[in-house]
Amino acid sequence: MKAVRLQATGQLQLCEVEKPVPGPGELLVRIEACGICGTDRHIFHGEFPSKPPVTLGHEFAGIVETVGPGVTDFRPGMRVTGDPNISCGSCEECRRGRVNLCRNLRAIGIHRDGGFADYVCMPQSQAFALPADLDPLHGAFCEPLACCIHGVDLAGLHAGASVIVLGGGVIGLLTLQLATLAGATRVVLVTRSDGKRRLAESLGATATADPGDGDIIARLTDADGLLPGGADVVFECAGVTDTVQQAPRLARRGGSAVILGVMPQGAKIEIEPFDLLFREVRLISSFVNPFTHGRAADLIATGRIKVEPLISRRIGLAEAPDAIINPARGGEIRALVIPGRE
Ligand code: NAP
Ligand code: ZN
Repeated sequence: MKAVRLQATGQLQLCEVEKPVPGPGELLVRIEACGICGTDRHIFHGEFPSKPPVTLGHEFAGIVETVGPGVTDFRPGMRVTGDPNISCGSCEECRRGRVNLCRNLRAIGIHRDGGFADYVCMPQSQAFALPADLDPLHGAFCEPLACCIHGVDLAGLHAGASVIVLGGGVIGLLTLQLATLAGATRVVLVTRSDGKRRLAESLGATATADPGDGDIIARLTDADGLLPGGADVVFECAGVTDTVQQAPRLARRGGSAVILGVMPQGAKIEIEPFDLLFREVRLISSFVNPFTHGRAADLIATGRIKVEPLISRRIGLAEAPDAIINPARGGEIRALVIPGRE
């Protein structure tokens, strides 16, 4: 079979490899689609730790081809999505239920072979069923959606809340939809590109703003701004220091700022502790997807979260190395790798 392998940092190739054989408790899944995520680009450049040689791809879904000994919950022909993050279950954090903080966390597509391939092998405990009649490409959005669900859970978002989302990529556009589903009445999305702002409006944003257009804090929170006094919850989904710095300042008194974006290691921001304290703003960070993948699968299976408009490009495995090595194209939300596509 074909697989896109990271041989070493900066060395990514389409290779011919042995089709894996599922071991006890494992599923062999024929990949239908696997999303290219910013993390794949960071891994390629050595900015995110991985374990080469390894097949990349952690946002995948497909059809069970065969099952290993002892598999009880899945059978060939079923459509599944994979939660890539495998926790050890026995470290101190896992035993406290904080599986995303597992000290031995290993991810499919980062530490063991992933979804930029014809097939992937994974423990059945990482798999979640998807409906047979679902669009075969939509399952690839379960992983990023599961990460956004964790952020919304941590925020404790209530019906009637006001929300600001910083960043109009996949994470921002999925978070926007989750906030709306959770009952937020006003959701303002801030992103530079006009196309992404239009898309956000079509997906439920009540208003959008361009961060380059004057003083964004004043434009949003001033008495005559879009959300006077700030938002109950601000989600930082851009992954740049500017937005991390803005997030707590855009929160209202007693509000929360949730950081989802991944910053380069060592990056620093300035915060004003006086302001955080006297406005009692909660600064929260949200890391991956503890126990949220099943809910993500359900939201996508039922069509409650729209993912079709987030697909910007469909490519085959042969084009995948180039698409990962180069930055995302202007305006692109998600490129999906579809094995078997020319
Ligand atoms: P993305 O496609 O790069 O989207 C981020 C968007 O932010 C960009 O498309 C850009 O759009 C916008 N942006 C850049 N500078 C901005 C600014 N100053 N103000 C407002 N918007 C700005 O990335 P993504 O896939 O959506 O992921 C977003 C972040 O979440 C990344 O850092 C990613 O690594 C991280 N992430 C975290 C988790 C987690 O578990 N916490 C999981 C997955 C991903 P414009 O060009 O329109 O501005
Ligand atoms: Zn653990």
